[in-house]
Amino acid sequence: MGTRRKALKSLISIPFIGGVLSSNELLTYQNGNLVKLNRDYFKELGIRTFINAAGTYTSMTGSLMPKEVIDAINYGSLEYVNLDELQDKVGERIAELLECEYATVSSGCFGAMSIAMAGVMSGKDPKKIKQLPDTTGLRNEVILQESHTIGYAQALTNVGAKLVKVKTAEELENAINKKTAMLWFLNANTDRGDIKWEEFVSLGKKHNIPTFIDCAADVPPVDNLFKFTRIGFDMVAFSGGKGLRGPQSAGLLLGKKEYIEAARLHTPPRGETIGRGMKVNKEEVLGMLAALELYLSKDHQAEWKMWEDQIDLISESAKSISGVETTIHVPPHANHVPSLKIRWDESKVNISPDNVRKILREGSPSIETVGNKNEIGITTWMMVPGQEKIVAKKIKKILKSHKI
Ligand SMILES: *Cc1c(COP(=O)(O)O)cnc(C)c1O
Repeated sequence: MGTRRKALKSLISIPFIGGVLSSNELLTYQNGNLVKLNRDYFKELGIRTFINAAGTYTSMTGSLMPKEVIDAINYGSLEYVNLDELQDKVGERIAELLECEYATVSSGCFGAMSIAMAGVMSGKDPKKIKQLPDTTGLRNEVILQESHTIGYAQALTNVGAKLVKVKTAEELENAINKKTAMLWFLNANTDRGDIKWEEFVSLGKKHNIPTFIDCAADVPPVDNLFKFTRIGFDMVAFSGGKGLRGPQSAGLLLGKKEYIEAARLHTPPRGETIGRGMKVNKEEVLGMLAALELYLSKDHQAEWKMWEDQIDLISESAKSISGVETTIHVPPHANHVPSLKIRWDESKVNISPDNVRKILREGSPSIETVGNKNEIGITTWMMVPGQEKIVAKKIKKILKSHKI
């Protein structure tokens, strides 16, 4: 009862959520300098902005781009270039940086999967390129482990491929036939599958079928940018707008030149292709390169320490309320960052995690977290440093006010 009234009250007290920003100056970067913006679009539009204590979610617009990335985007907006020439040169630069054969900037990791799949099915034959998603006469099967099945596999079926699911290496070998176009691996689910990286790659090599690994959310650690091409995956894809903090609509496709060139043949400026809608503009291509360069040059240990300190701060603050427990964990694959779970005994703190999350969301400033009916989940890597203090204070305040 008390909970519901409080939640409602906090809703009513913010008639216009964008208004909370009015006391702050809106700043952005231009040529490395902070400049004041004279329009507040989100406020004008009545759009809620929030502290992202959740993580890299497309629904929450991913990550925030650092100034070097914004500078590259602004720079790119000032001149015309040939799109293919830009992609060629940036692809070469990225391949050099990541010590792999070739690379291209794709429209997200999902886009990388679609154009890669299309490319292995069509090769460089213009007729076959134009015919997709009709795969008549083409190799169109992609083999994956059943435990690696996720919704994002739609990126493969969208271009006409058929998923063939297996459990063991033996089943995988038996599934290979004249129609097999690719073997697809989901790094996030590595631990759940029977077949691990090296064996998967060797099966591909043994049967001369290209292998692909979805590493969308697998930066950090930075080593992952090098590791999987080194292990021998023919194609490796990362999201540009997650840990790399590049444009949210960009991604990286790394690997063997022959496959990436075939994938590129499905992308703009070429029009009669299945990938025509997966355009990456010159600003995003440069932004992606700048994001990657910045990421590679960053002090990863210092960043990790900052995340640990932030998580500790929030954890200690929540735990100071009796009946509240926290656990800190680091997922081994995908979203590999210090992460916090907050739980409590509802006979001591009389509010549900869902309601705490709702109050956080409806508060000022608004705070987004993840979780379920048992716990609140928090990461700090997508926050602006300093915001962890606001989050720590707010969670403690809510929990304290529901103490019995
Ligand atoms: C985020 C994600 C994708 C999609 O990546 P985008 O860059 O948003 O296109 C694909 N696969 C996995 C495992 C992901 O986490």
